[in-house]
Amino acid sequence: MEIDDISFDEEDQNIFLVDDILIKAEALRHSILPKLEVACNYLVELIRDCYGVEVLEDSSFTLSPHFRTHKRVVDVKKNYHEAAIEISGRRQEGYWPGLQKPDGTPVSIVPFGMSLTLDRFGISTSLHLSRPTYTKETFAKFFDFALQYNEEIMAILHRAEYSYWNPHFMDEFPPMTPLSAILKWSHATNYNKIIFEGKPFSFPLDNKRIMRKVFDLMFMFPIYDSFVRIAKGEPERFLSLLKNMNDVIWEADVDDLVEDYQEKRKAKENDQALLDQAKESAARRIKVMPSMRWQVFQRDSWKCVACGKNADDHIWLEVDHIIPRSKGGKNEITNYQTLCNVCNIGKSNKDETDIRKGRL
Ligand SMILES: [Zn+2]
Repeated sequence: MEIDDISFDEEDQNIFLVDDILIKAEALRHSILPKLEVACNYLVELIRDCYGVEVLEDSSFTLSPHFRTHKRVVDVKKNYHEAAIEISGRRQEGYWPGLQKPDGTPVSIVPFGMSLTLDRFGISTSLHLSRPTYTKETFAKFFDFALQYNEEIMAILHRAEYSYWNPHFMDEFPPMTPLSAILKWSHATNYNKIIFEGKPFSFPLDNKRIMRKVFDLMFMFPIYDSFVRIAKGEPERFLSLLKNMNDVIWEADVDDLVEDYQEKRKAKENDQALLDQAKESAARRIKVMPSMRWQVFQRDSWKCVACGKNADDHIWLEVDHIIPRSKGGKNEITNYQTLCNVCNIGKSNKDETDIRKGRL
């Protein structure tokens, strides 16, 4: 699946309103997270193209909701209000000599990350640093970096439509306070957090809006990379990454970049048959009531009934009409089956097979 296959609609938004925490968690894991993962993979690609850096050498994806499934018994106790993927330094003891715990034991988890989050309001991104258990000296390194480059960082935040002021500072600072003043105050008062928040987009989220968020994270990357280098105990390379970013920005506005990308992809789609099939699939896209949708997933054990794949196989689940409504198929649970996005595109409107029956 490619980035331009991704969108989030009202049905996706409705997942956050499901009151059964198990069904909600399963739905987020199976139908939202795989799409966010495609977006994050695209981010990794963009960063490679723009900065020549392989993000996954030092970092990994952390998915939420994340829980264990033992056959049909699922271990979920938490009521998830969002689905998120965080990119943060990979967990490995001794890999982060730049970080120190007060008791001197090696650090395996880095105190920062950048994330792509979907909640009931829409999509948002952030870059954050916080871990009160590491030493004051550890945090001084991050604050010193941010202070040294506070003007460049503010320029990046402006470009990516990010803010650094948040309601936590309300009593201390008015909203237009310079970043440097907040950093100095944060460090002096042991408020060991640096939080940059991107402008959220609300539902419905078309492909262009999702791509915009991914580009914003790409612009934030030099700050993230500097945190990684500090944690590795290596000199940061902030200004040289910034130069690479400037080259991209000089070329075009983000909207143009997004459109260029979409046009390039369309040009590749010279296979008219494939295009028609995709259009047909979009046209007959079914609208199933959210509760019914989850009942179908639940009945089919959160797996594609055709190929048996689930979210762990980098697909997402869709509900398919066995007999299309255009041919008199009813909006009843018996007329629905769970298909993955790949099998669903492969099943044309003329094909009325109940795949479950075929397999029994
Ligand atoms: Zn399938």
